[in-house]
Amino acid sequence: MYPIITLRPRKEESLLRRHPWVFSGAIGHIPSRLREGDLVNVYAADGTPLGVGYYQIGSIAVRMLSFQQDTEIGNDFWNERLSQALQLRERLGLLSEQNNTFRLVHGEGDQLPGLIVDYYNGIAVMQAHTVGIHRFRHAIAEALQQNLPHRLKAVYYKSETTLPYKAQTGAKDGFIFGETDQDIATENGLQFHIDYQGGQKTGFFADQRDNRRLLQHYASGKRVLNMFCYTGGFSVYALAGRANLVHSVDSSTRAVDITNANVALNFPDTTKHQAFAQDAFKFLQEQRTKDYDIVILDPPAFAKHRDALRQALRGYTRLNETALRHMPSGSILFTFSCSQAVSREQFRLAVFTAAAHTKRHVRILHQLTQPADHPINIYHPEGEYLKGLVLYVE
Ligand code: SAH
Repeated sequence: MYPIITLRPRKEESLLRRHPWVFSGAIGHIPSRLREGDLVNVYAADGTPLGVGYYQIGSIAVRMLSFQQDTEIGNDFWNERLSQALQLRERLGLLSEQNNTFRLVHGEGDQLPGLIVDYYNGIAVMQAHTVGIHRFRHAIAEALQQNLPHRLKAVYYKSETTLPYKAQTGAKDGFIFGETDQDIATENGLQFHIDYQGGQKTGFFADQRDNRRLLQHYASGKRVLNMFCYTGGFSVYALAGRANLVHSVDSSTRAVDITNANVALNFPDTTKHQAFAQDAFKFLQEQRTKDYDIVILDPPAFAKHRDALRQALRGYTRLNETALRHMPSGSILFTFSCSQAVSREQFRLAVFTAAAHTKRHVRILHQLTQPADHPINIYHPEGEYLKGLVLYVE
């Protein structure tokens, strides 16, 4: 049905184990006129059918959408996949009076490589990371409408910066279904303005939901520093947990404005919160962490690629060192890495090094990860990206 790609001998093993990527080096034969994003049938060298995927230019040459031979990638396919994704989120209890903010599609974790969909109280923000998904954007938007009949006001397509630059798709960010100027969504009973049009990624990091809740649990009576605050998620939870004082820091003034707006939305009369538009390292050096009982470090991904790994690990060590050095005895550090290229062990070693350099006695209270609406396909461990440690500093 679709053009055929044949692998080199013995290159089918990872696919038989349902790892969804075909690397270019594994390909034995490829049709000459294939365009980026085209659907393909993949076969092993001995003729065993392996499934259907889409072609892309680069070291990952095919991303598999189905491990069934000749699956038709049409409306039924998208409907079924989105229905499965939604069912899981419903089972997780993420659609309720108390919560309408979650990740509906997490790429490979939902058997939809290249696609991210975040749901914010009726607005689905869709991100395509590949030309293949870009081409199906309207079919996916339709499947979203089918699956969320009374719960979808709009689909906002936001892929200008996530699609490969060289592909020159000309993609423009904007609504591809419906339209709304509503921007407030609820997470664990707390409200947030979601800047899905102007903000980073899809506008809000739902992946810290469970970890914010954990912070809330520790916050009572404490002085909290939320470093790299973005939309102020951790700050709002700290106030919900009755923190005595919360300081939020981000180098982006836009992030600081949103943080202030989100604090005001939930706690209009609070005098306990202050936000600073400043560089993290500068703030940590000037203010010192000696004045806080809890510090949160949730920086942007330091390693976007494997090549940047060593430098990224040094970056995590330096950041944690700067924070740990002055933290009072009995304080707690929440420290994170969202770099996919940094493994859990590497991150832990980077933090270990920071503790050793500062000669602090540190114990691990919790080892954190991404929440269940960011599931990890067990055959695709690359999908595990968020790592966190909660440390007790003595
Ligand atoms: N903790 C946030 C997500 C953080 S995203 C949440 O729960 O939603 C990372 C943030 O770090 C971004 O908002 C970015 O503007 C900010 N940032 C990047 N470099 C920075 C720096 N050098 N100093 C301070 N903030 C920085």
